[in-house]
Amino acid sequence: MRVLQIKCPRCQQPIYSKTKDLAFYCPHCRTMHVRDGGVHIIDFDIAEFNVNAPQDRVYMPFWRLFSTVRIDQSQVAGGTLFKLGRLLKGTANGGNLFIYVPAWHTEVQEFKRWAMDMTESQPMYSLGTDFANVERLPTAVTREEAMRMADFVIVTMEAERPGTLQYLRYSLQVHDARLVYLPFVRGPGGVTPGF
Ligand SMILES: [Zn+2]
Repeated sequence: MRVLQIKCPRCQQPIYSKTKDLAFYCPHCRTMHVRDGGVHIIDFDIAEFNVNAPQDRVYMPFWRLFSTVRIDQSQVAGGTLFKLGRLLKGTANGGNLFIYVPAWHTEVQEFKRWAMDMTESQPMYSLGTDFANVERLPTAVTREEAMRMADFVIVTMEAERPGTLQYLRYSLQVHDARLVYLPFVRGPGGVTPGF
């Protein structure tokens, strides 16, 4: 296997990476940087595991997009917008939310599932300071790709109940993207959140 050796852009220590990962973590100075054409130091969160989480742990990377959604016009059979209406804080016609975009290499169904689950639940977590030797999945989605997928997440979230949403005109503004590592636990049926 080819081992890639690069240098941390902050402290110049070598970082060794065996996996194809857009995001590089320097355990020496705890800096994360991405290489997607250029070299950029980025802000990131490591969420802490629940102390009772089983031991087969893995960190899954998400792009967390701080976004403002404005609903200009919508028509929904039998009531109001199903999920957006409940999620958006602010006025009835819009507000802010975090859109979570899975950043590891996923299949479409898996992508949809975790984008919906995390965006709907708006997870609360404590911040950790290190990965504590827990494996992290490689980041395969760039920040720009994640921002382009924000619309897909919003529309999919409302379209999940077939026949309900008839019309939706909205505007979406993404203010900020942060790489967030959420704790998961591997089990017989796949991974489940561990925070
Ligand atoms: Zn460093």
